[in-house]
Amino acid sequence: VQVGDQRARPAWLRKEKPVTGAVLQNKTRIARLGLHTVCESARCPNLSECMASGNATFLILGDVCTRRCRFCSVRHGVPVEPDPAEGEGIARYIADAGLRYAVITSVTRDDLPDGGSGHFASVITEIRRHHPAVGLEVLTPDFMGRLDAVDRVVDLPLQVFGHNVETVRQLSGRIRCGADHSRSLCVLERAAARAGGRLIVKSGVMVGLGETREELGGLFRELAAAGVSALTMGQYLRPGRDSLPVARYIPPEEFQELAAAARSAGIASVLSGPYVRSSYLAEALYRGQG
Ligand code: SF4
Repeated sequence: VQVGDQRARPAWLRKEKPVTGAVLQNKTRIARLGLHTVCESARCPNLSECMASGNATFLILGDVCTRRCRFCSVRHGVPVEPDPAEGEGIARYIADAGLRYAVITSVTRDDLPDGGSGHFASVITEIRRHHPAVGLEVLTPDFMGRLDAVDRVVDLPLQVFGHNVETVRQLSGRIRCGADHSRSLCVLERAAARAGGRLIVKSGVMVGLGETREELGGLFRELAAAGVSALTMGQYLRPGRDSLPVARYIPPEEFQELAAAARSAGIASVLSGPYVRSSYLAEALYRGQG
């Protein structure tokens, strides 16, 4: 399994990362407002591309996670108190950067009795107060399977509710520390049932962790049955030495085959490619252009 990481990355994974004036300006705006982004915390390879147009995925509830997944480079340890000014800060950034669409995610907060769902509610409510027409997408943790927490978030004025299963059932226990594949499917199923078509339910998967085609086929059927209608699929890249090694680099044409398989399983919108991340081109996927 180690071999994949020791080889040089294939040509299709050598992405230019130009740091333009616009990227620096938006990074500075984010820092001045005291905000965190998963783009920076997770060292996303698309950062330059997304931030050049102002796009970023805001990480609320601090930047310290209570879990320690083996694919993720977000800091873990003792989390900080939720910041009541976070919603206002994001609203300000949306105005300054002129965004029409924003994605909000969080670290996992198993320490909070409501899993952080109340903070999601106050952040979204505050953003909506300032921006009634902006598209809003959330990517939530599993709230330890608390359905009242899922309901609290689904009931907010959102366009997309996202929760990532990250990998196939067969690898989940090894890769997602503290999570449970069936619990994640329950979260998605509850969100779809509660929303009743009012919003899109979305999930995300990394490939190249050692999963098989058959296992992915099973996952697509599980997600479709849960009511997921939008899916992102991208290559897993090892974010640091402590993280899991890459098992295989999937060529671009295989991503297209996987997208076709996901669509035939019943998932309407699929964005699939080596550099796709769960919030990559989020607005385009939402508008059906993904
Ligand atoms: S793909 Fe998502 S996490 Fe990565 S830089 Fe773009 S908005 Fe940020």
